[in-house]
Amino acid sequence: MNAMNTVLVFLEQREGVVKKSSIDIWNRVQELAALRPGTAVSALLAGPASSRQLDGSLGGNGVVYHANEAAFKLYNPEHYTRLVVETMKKVAATALFFADTALSRDLAPRLSVRLKASLLTGCAVDDVWGADGGGCCQRAVYSGAAIASFAPTRPLKIYTCTSRPTRSSSAITSGAQASVVVLEPSSRTREELFPLVRRMVMHAGVRDVAEARIIVAGGRGMGSAGSFGLLEELARLLGGAVGASRAVVDEGWRPHAEQIGQTGKTVAPALYLACAISGAPQHLAGIGSAGIVVAINCDPHAPIFDIADYALVGDVHLLLPKLIEEFQEFLKKR
Ligand SMILES: Cc1cc2nc3c(=O)[nH]c(=O)nc-3n(C[C@H](O)[C@H](O)[C@H](O)COP(=O)(O)OP(=O)(O)OC[C@H]3O[C@@H](n4cnc5c(N)ncnc54)[C@H](O)[C@@H]3O)c2cc1C
Repeated sequence: MNAMNTVLVFLEQREGVVKKSSIDIWNRVQELAALRPGTAVSALLAGPASSRQLDGSLGGNGVVYHANEAAFKLYNPEHYTRLVVETMKKVAATALFFADTALSRDLAPRLSVRLKASLLTGCAVDDVWGADGGGCCQRAVYSGAAIASFAPTRPLKIYTCTSRPTRSSSAITSGAQASVVVLEPSSRTREELFPLVRRMVMHAGVRDVAEARIIVAGGRGMGSAGSFGLLEELARLLGGAVGASRAVVDEGWRPHAEQIGQTGKTVAPALYLACAISGAPQHLAGIGSAGIVVAINCDPHAPIFDIADYALVGDVHLLLPKLIEEFQEFLKKR
């Protein structure tokens, strides 16, 4: 009999590297669990992970269940669903947390049906699990015209979440090291049962906005696809990723993979630099968990300034080259 209330965090890997967005969720859930006596946090990692991550950087007091089978290397809905269901039962978990990613948007609904669980998507961890959270999550609906509150109705809950960036992207601050339990291979995950038909790699080598700690995003006010060269240069200097508003993607200036917002990606960078983005509610829906927001806009009344921590009023074509120059100088001196 398990007297503890156990919650499970799903750690998503790609190419054997656990995604930063998953680690942020793992860290934050553990930090919040420390405030809830009688709560244990475990994690499930499907597929290979670098020994560096397993041995050193998955901090905390919890147990990481590692299913290190070849069949879990790439996402397979059938295999992953079975694995998560079995692990949820094994640890008698009452809640399951995912980072809000393309994978979790596919997997979590399947799991909610299999496990008869309430599913809340696009939540901030602190909203659903913080001291005042009460398991509810709020989201803008009807193009930002209203705020809807979603509350779980079943004992078992599944959340796809973003988390405000934690201080470290690799380990929680307690210094403790999670213990790793390797799960027994299962005969039911043979790859020939569910063969992979084709794997497509989009925009190889480009940093994913959903994983980036710094995002330099551009809106329609950038004026052309060519102007995004300035943002690429700035992102390169800062070690960040380029993001875009939907207007930009609709213009065909940038790929949809970079779109941030209601119909794009939800991001949680430590720094979000919004360049010539008006700040429509559908765009803001994607950056609610961002740390510091810096906005550049020539319109002093642009709505983006309502949520920005720092406002630069002016023309991006004048300000961005200056910013790039300043950063270059700064980096030279370091
Ligand atoms: C159902 C639905 C879903 C949507 N989903 C998304 C989504 O996921 N993501 C998203 O982004 N949008 C989404 N939208 C669209 C959203 O409503 C806005 O239309 C869009 O975000 C506007 O993009 P923008 O800010 O780049 O462009 P604009 O609204 O055209 O704003 C351009 C801004 O650039 C400024 N500007 C112009 N020139 C300069 C200059 N030289 N220097 C500095 N500033 C300048 C202007 O003052 C203006 O504020 C959605 C809309 C709907 C209806």
